[in-house]
Amino acid sequence: MKYKTLLLLKPECYKWHIADDIITILKKKGYKIESQKEIIVDMKVMQVFLMHYKEVIDRLGAEFNFVGKLFNSYYFNGPHKIGVICLSSEKELIEDIRKLIGSTDPQKATSSTIRALFSKDSMEKAAKENRLIQNCIHASDSVQSANRELELWKDHL
Ligand code: ADP
Ligand code: MG
Repeated sequence: MKYKTLLLLKPECYKWHIADDIITILKKKGYKIESQKEIIVDMKVMQVFLMHYKEVIDRLGAEFNFVGKLFNSYYFNGPHKIGVICLSSEKELIEDIRKLIGSTDPQKATSSTIRALFSKDSMEKAAKENRLIQNCIHASDSVQSANRELELWKDHL
């Protein structure tokens, strides 16, 4: 049986030239890259992001203005490049990958995690600049999310 998850390399990976380093870490851990594409975020991709982050948009509420921050992070002052990756493994990988990427806030992430290793961003700085925190990578958080997200991004995989 093959298990799959969706990863997104966020724009900062390309701005900070760390995309290849992250890919190397994933390969060294024994994960297989089923597909990997680099795309420029246009309005069509923004629409996919709005569906992708629907639960977070609802959870954080109107006050947080996730959509505005998403726009500022992924579209405004672009072009912004992202990586869309389908990762697979012979054994269940979702929980392991989530552990490997670390907490949402890089300042709180365990030191060996991808987010702690590659980002020095802080929630305070992100709030001040009205944008999302730059934590380098997205990974699906459950089998259900992975299936949903792989379907949402299938035209870009
Ligand atoms: P994760 O990516 O760790 O699963 P969430 O699904 O809660 O985290 O949020 C999606 C993304 O939205 C995060 O990776 C981060 O980029 C951004 N985000 C979430 N909460 C905040 C916050 N309080 N301030 C800034 N950005 C946030
Ligand atoms: Mg999430």
